[in-house]
Amino acid sequence: MHWAQIEARTFWLVMAASFLVVAVWESLRPHRELSIPGERRWSRHGLLLIVSSLTSVAIYRIGPVVVAASMVDSRFGLFHQIALPYALRFILTILLLDFVRYAVHWAQHHVPILWRMHQVHHSDPDFDLSTGARVHPLETVLVQGATLAAVALLAPPVAAVLAVELITCFQVFFVHANVSMPAGLEKYLRLVVVTPHMHRVHHSEDAREQSRNLSDIFPWWDHLFRTYLAAPARGDVGFVGMRGLQNTGSLDLWFMLSQPFRREVNQESSARS
Ligand SMILES: [Zn+2]
Repeated sequence: MHWAQIEARTFWLVMAASFLVVAVWESLRPHRELSIPGERRWSRHGLLLIVSSLTSVAIYRIGPVVVAASMVDSRFGLFHQIALPYALRFILTILLLDFVRYAVHWAQHHVPILWRMHQVHHSDPDFDLSTGARVHPLETVLVQGATLAAVALLAPPVAAVLAVELITCFQVFFVHANVSMPAGLEKYLRLVVVTPHMHRVHHSEDAREQSRNLSDIFPWWDHLFRTYLAAPARGDVGFVGMRGLQNTGSLDLWFMLSQPFRREVNQESSARS
């Protein structure tokens, strides 16, 4: 089977399974009650996900796995210049591609024009698995472009790129899950992987806390670059989202698509903190 088919099939399979697992978990052990019914959130954010995915596919026409596969016999790429064991290249690929996402996320919180796109994600008035799908098409294009560029520069093992794609797919739903976890388990889990409790701090309505806990898969980047915040100042995240936008209007598809171009919603951004 061609790598493009493997990527497409496994990605959609993992996406459906991840959504189902986290959705059932949320219904059984929710962390807090949502202010707006879940079905309404899922449908609006699902629509935005479709628009963002189609935009990215229309622009790039190719995924990271296929780019990696096309470079297997090439002499270009960092990993073709340095002789490293396959296992080490595999691990380095997962770490480096996760770091790229951390770096892009950091930039989105510190470069005003990038924050304009990213604030769409942060203006969600609730926090549940569908928040992960709430990404503006321009942000999807930016993140995908950075990933494709990193893969082209590295020429990494194809299976490692696929592994990152699948882990990231699960993490998108998991870190935004509105679930409660035993504190004892969560304390150890966040040592190796970003947890919903850790990422919820990032969605605090406090702009200073929004620029903390930027990691995607591994929390180590936040520790390394001192952007880690164990718990919000008030003990638990009170309100999530952005002040002034915590209402049903923030779920409107046109609002989400046009938000980066509006002047009035940029009054309080974490890029300024
Ligand atoms: Zn963010």
